Amino acid sequence: MIGVDLGIKHLAVFSDGRPTAENPKHYDTARRKLGRLSRTIARRLGPDRRTGQQPSKRWQRADAARNRVHYRTANLRRDALHKLTTSLAREYGTIVVEDLNVSGMLRNRRLARVVADAGFGEIRRQLAYKTRWNGGTLEVADRWFPSSKTCSGCQAVTPKLPLRIRMYVCDHCGLVLDRDENAALNLAALVKRHVAGSGPETENGRGADRKTPSCGAGGIEASTPH
Ligand SMILES: [Zn+2]
Repeated sequence: MIGVDLGIKHLAVFSDGRPTAENPKHYDTARRKLGRLSRTIARRLGPDRRTGQQPSKRWQRADAARNRVHYRTANLRRDALHKLTTSLAREYGTIVVEDLNVSGMLRNRRLARVVADAGFGEIRRQLAYKTRWNGGTLEVADRWFPSSKTCSGCQAVTPKLPLRIRMYVCDHCGLVLDRDENAALNLAALVKRHVAGSGPETENGRGADRKTPSCGAGGIEASTPH
C-alpha cells in the first residue's frame, strides 16, 4: 500500500519513503523555445483567410518547427507519467490518491498551467487502469478529506495551512514533517483504517459524494442536467 500526494512543488510524494518524483516541467523548458519560434513566425508572411494570402515557405518552415516542439513536449510528458504510473501499479497492491479537483484547479488561472503540465488528471486515469491490470486497487480519498491539514502522528487537524508553508508543524504532538510527506502518510492511513473497518470502497474515481441534503439544496456543487 502506498499513499501518493500529487503536488505542484513535486509531482508526487510517497508515504513509504520512496524518493519523491520531481515535477518534470517539460513545458516550462519548452516555453522559451516556443516563444522564440512564435516571434519568428509572426515576422514571416503567414496565411490570411480574409485576403486569401498563402503562407510563405519560410513561414511554413517556422510553423512546422513550432509544432515539433509542441509534439516533443507532449511526448516527454507522456513518457514521464507512464513510467511513474507503471512502476507504482506494479509495485503496490493499493494506491491511495486524493480526489483533486482538477477541473476546478484548471479554472484558477494561476494554477492552470502548472497543473496541466504536471498532468494530475492523467496520472489518476493511468493509475486507475494500470492498478486494475495488475490486480491492485486505486483508492481515491474524498475531495474534502483534509490530507494536508491533518497530523499524521496524532490526527489533530490544523484549521489553516497556506500553500506556501512547506513544513507541517503539529501544535498537539510537536511533529515536524514535510507538508507533502505528511499528506501522503494521511492518505495511506486513511485506507488502512477503512480496510480495518471494512465496508464498501469507492472504487470510482469520481468519489465526490459530499453528503448534501437530499432536498436538492446542494449548494454550488449541485448540477442541473442541461
Ligand atoms: Zn500531531
